[in-house]
Amino acid sequence: MNPKELWKATLGEIELQISKPNFSTWLKNSELVERNEREGVALVGLPNNFAKEWVRNRYHKLILGSLRNLDSSIRNVDYVVLTGVREVPARVATTKVPAATPLTDERSQLPITELKVDPLTNLNPRYTFDTFIVGSSNELAYAAIQAVIGAVGKKYNPLFIYGGVGLGKTHLLQAAGNTISKNVGGRNRVLYVSSEKFINDVVWAVRNKRMEDVKKKYRDVDVLIIDDIQFIGGKTTTELEFFYTFNALYEHSKQIIISSDRPPAAIPTLEERLRSRFEGGMIADITYPDYEMRLAILRAKLQELGTPLDDKVLTHIAAKVQKNIRELEGVLNKVLFFHQHKGGVDVKKLDEIINETTQVTAKNVSASDVIKTVAEFFEVPITDLTQRSRKQEVVEPRQIAMFLLRDLLKLSYPHIGEKLGKRDHTTAIHAYEKINKELSQNPALNQKIMLIKERVYK
Ligand code: ADP
Ligand code: MG
Repeated sequence: MNPKELWKATLGEIELQISKPNFSTWLKNSELVERNEREGVALVGLPNNFAKEWVRNRYHKLILGSLRNLDSSIRNVDYVVLTGVREVPARVATTKVPAATPLTDERSQLPITELKVDPLTNLNPRYTFDTFIVGSSNELAYAAIQAVIGAVGKKYNPLFIYGGVGLGKTHLLQAAGNTISKNVGGRNRVLYVSSEKFINDVVWAVRNKRMEDVKKKYRDVDVLIIDDIQFIGGKTTTELEFFYTFNALYEHSKQIIISSDRPPAAIPTLEERLRSRFEGGMIADITYPDYEMRLAILRAKLQELGTPLDDKVLTHIAAKVQKNIRELEGVLNKVLFFHQHKGGVDVKKLDEIINETTQVTAKNVSASDVIKTVAEFFEVPITDLTQRSRKQEVVEPRQIAMFLLRDLLKLSYPHIGEKLGKRDHTTAIHAYEKINKELSQNPALNQKIMLIKERVYK
């Protein structure tokens, strides 16, 4: 086999083992640059540095294994950036979307026929791992879910996944449910519910004296998936019922998977014993996708739809739409609509689409809304922020509040200082600059600010 054939055969093997979007994002444009027979080293070329590091970190073992299967003289693989190769093949130059795209569900862009939710499990077959891009922001959550799928009820129990709105929690949970319910000949009974549904069921059961039915429904499963658990906190009867359900399942080694918009410790109304149950399992977060991941997601969605689009349009969207994946999809869908019906978008139109999609949330908020949200987020009294308190634990919340008043509302520094602890304007400037600088270096801080912003605009 010459290097080209060898690589083609290797990719053929790899393709069977990783998801389609990940394959086309990371490996499709790779090449076998060189096979050094004397040293047994194969040199794999990738279009850019990011892809090179990504592939080295995630797929090295797989690549080496697959190559060795075909050529046992290969002992190691190294990676280089291909020079003079464009990232995107020429075929994605501006082409119109074919008119015959099937009718789609507005949110998912998949043909409507594929969207039947199974009434027994509440699982939607649209959510699969095939369409789920794994990147630095969700790697941990993805790995944890895969571990659970491989050892249902045995490994990470409960598995608690948290992250902001539109970052893929439901997708991940549903995909796990779909996979588990197909494994072992479909013997695992999976039940997916939102916490709202659980609350409604309990309330209904109490009112109609049908608690036994509800208990049976939730305890008679192998895998219970509860989405957005944060809403359960503080609702005494429901929380208690959930606690009993949790224990009953847990004692029988049934798998519990939970999602939330924040970690257990940050759900103020959650009862201590439930919190400690959650913390006794595995906790994984999903953070905000970076530029490369946003671009990879856009490319994968296009590929899924089979519709080409100018790569400049994609990079523009990926650069500008930073909030979450749902918004990315929303913008992409609108752009595709324009391509289909209006012959395309220019930069001006594109920015218009981006602004209108991302500004749905930009309702009018006041300084007190921001301060209140920050106080609630950190579980400190509002007055600790607004009065001259020197407590150590309010230093960060107050700085964040100052930052947000400037960032979101463009208030003047003297005004901000006055509102938050009667400080002078230099304190406010310092706080803004400090947080602003740290944002680029501290992902945890970034995450906090994003979550607070989301809640401000909810
Ligand atoms: P959440 O439950 O966290 O609010 P969703 O799971 O509803 O978020 O995700 C929002 C949208 O983004 C969905 O359409 C989902 O399919 C898509 N999405 C989220 N994460 C990914 C990903 N990693 N790869 C591809 N699509 C994703
Ligand atoms: Mg969700």
